[in-house]
Amino acid sequence: MEKIINIAIDGPSGAGKSTMAKRLAAELGFLYVDTGAMYRTIALYACRKGVDKEDRATIVSLLPEIRLDMAYGEDGTQQMLLNGENVSGLIRTSEISMYTSQVSAIPEVRAFLLEQQRSIGRSRSILMDGRDIGTVVLPEAQIKIYLTAAPEARADRRWKELHAKGEPDTYEAVLKDVIQRDWNDMHRDVAPLKQADDAILVDTTEYDLEGSYQLLLNTIKERM
Ligand code: C5P
Repeated sequence: MEKIINIAIDGPSGAGKSTMAKRLAAELGFLYVDTGAMYRTIALYACRKGVDKEDRATIVSLLPEIRLDMAYGEDGTQQMLLNGENVSGLIRTSEISMYTSQVSAIPEVRAFLLEQQRSIGRSRSILMDGRDIGTVVLPEAQIKIYLTAAPEARADRRWKELHAKGEPDTYEAVLKDVIQRDWNDMHRDVAPLKQADDAILVDTTEYDLEGSYQLLLNTIKERM
């Protein structure tokens, strides 16, 4: 039987985790699992219901109504299904990003997703990205990467992405969001964002997309 390998990639928003992870997974023949998309989908559900993002009790009460499924396109792209509806595009707005950062701090929400996330890595080789993959979700992962970059570099990348999609956010607003989300992710009580003791630190501030990818691929291949 082929050996199952789990790779965990954690880091702050805008470090390029999902772009890199998607490409790396394709290169290695692993399944790519984007856990941020799962949190975003819960946020979308609550947001659509008109619930205030600070109203934890109501958000928790909605969890039993939510069924999350992931489907994979031929190119390995993960599609998020919310009660059967493909919401992959709808979860990527700035509003949902900010909402998600509140929702993901709720312990019940994290517990709701934990087993679902863990079970995916048991049956096949995966590359999973998020904030707490190396520390909480897959503490036994054979390879752990902590991918980061300076907030300004991350904001610049995120702004270009949003701009290309026609979203009107200014660079200053995006930088403010990045800093706020970092703070939220690092200071929550449950599963805060932090580098696992055995994770390899990869800082891509000085690298472009291709350079970052090669750096990561080499780091992973060395460990495999
Ligand atoms: O990675 P992405 O930016 O899509 O994640 C959206 C939000 O979901 C993060 O800001 C974080 O608050 C939350 N998240 C998390 N734990 C994960 C993945 C994402 O708390 N494993």
